[in-house]
Amino acid sequence: MELLKKTAVEQHKALVNKEVSALELTKASIERIEKLDNELGCFNSTTFDSAIETAKKVDEKIAAGEEIPMLAGIPTALKDNMNMTGSKTTCSSKILENFVSPYDATITTKLKENLVPILGKANLDEFAMGSSNENSAFGIVKNPYNLKKVPGGSSGGSAASVSASEVTLSLGSDTGGSIRLPASFCGITGFKPTYGRVSRYGLIAFASSLDQIGPFGRSIEDTTLLYEAIAGYDAKDSTSLKLEVGDIYNNLKRDIKGLRVGVIKELMAEGVSDDVKASIENAIKTYEKLGAEIKEISLPLLKHSIGVYYIVATAEASSNLARFDGVKYGYRAADCENLLDMYCKTRAQGFGPEVKRRIMLGTYALSSGYYDAYYKKAQQLRRLIANDFNKAFEQVDILVSPTCPTTAFDLNSKANNPLEMYLTDIATISSNLVGAPALSMPCGFDKEGMPIGLQVIAKNLDELTLLQASYALEQELGVYLQRPNI
Ligand code: GLN
Repeated sequence: MELLKKTAVEQHKALVNKEVSALELTKASIERIEKLDNELGCFNSTTFDSAIETAKKVDEKIAAGEEIPMLAGIPTALKDNMNMTGSKTTCSSKILENFVSPYDATITTKLKENLVPILGKANLDEFAMGSSNENSAFGIVKNPYNLKKVPGGSSGGSAASVSASEVTLSLGSDTGGSIRLPASFCGITGFKPTYGRVSRYGLIAFASSLDQIGPFGRSIEDTTLLYEAIAGYDAKDSTSLKLEVGDIYNNLKRDIKGLRVGVIKELMAEGVSDDVKASIENAIKTYEKLGAEIKEISLPLLKHSIGVYYIVATAEASSNLARFDGVKYGYRAADCENLLDMYCKTRAQGFGPEVKRRIMLGTYALSSGYYDAYYKKAQQLRRLIANDFNKAFEQVDILVSPTCPTTAFDLNSKANNPLEMYLTDIATISSNLVGAPALSMPCGFDKEGMPIGLQVIAKNLDELTLLQASYALEQELGVYLQRPNI
């Protein structure tokens, strides 16, 4: 069905004009998942029955002449680290292989209130640790633009399923770039809101001071709608912000004449591929053409962001993942001699190699004698990086850079080199360290036809300017209209 490849906004219009029913749209999505997903690997599990029930409710409302929410009836996927009652939440880990969630995450509750059919749980790197989706215990995800390439990670299934038009929208989580990197590699839009905008209740924690849920869509409009549907204060998350989200969708169109656009100097330097650089420069020229003022901005401490992240994130992960011990939920090793033996065997058998590496790194960084040298120093640097960003936002309204120095790489090309894999996040990690909203949108293609992503960052809480600036550029570039040939 051609409509599946359209945006959520277009699908909404088709629903209210009765050109298609929500049931037909959901069934078309199911058919496409059944046709493509053996090859693509986007889904860990599907929830087709409940999606069909939701679609029927939407059709009843339409038939009764009632107004429906903008996202009602739009096929959507959740990353498999978000809880939905009665469905599995595996985090792509053997340790949670058979864990069925007894409750809904707040984002799930909100989607249900909006009558959004949830088609299933999307594959990810185990516990969201990775940049290529190759760290999943349940198989890799392939890039819809080229099946020999990675989709990016950790929200690889969420991004690839939207890119391949299996679903129209999806949610991911972003701790160091896990929404933006796969969005960039798969040619769609992915948005990490300001830390605290979206409730983390029911999201399985990786690094709690960095984790943030956010939307994937095929356009800025779609991404904004999904953001608005899930954002807002939630008493169940102590870090949730008690602030108005505002009406961004109806205020997206704005003249950006005079908008101050900062180009991050350090992210346009060595290591950026020629094609990526050319495409980002074209986006910057387009901003100029639209009347924006362009300024080069230096963030001298950015080079330390990966080092800081791999101490802070692993420290928090080592603490968060302590709960997976074979007692409370999930996998438990058989044939254990005593309690300690059971803990050891369960965790040795249940976690994959990357998760074990992170737990060891984090435990080390927090151990007595090393705490001051590593963890404390990393937190101090985190503050200094935030100061750099604050200074930058005195001079500009948004910052732009490539989302990643390269386009999607070949499957298996970095899987055995953790350090090289970690470096793919050089452009994305700092926004998590400082809490800033950041987005990746498609801005071109390389010589092999692989998508290139532009990252747009705004100061904390300024989602409005971020999305307005991205929308203006998107409309001018028109790249978002392209779909992979699958
Ligand atoms: N790639 C980064 C990591 O492996 C970021 C992951 C994420 O944002 N969840 O930790």
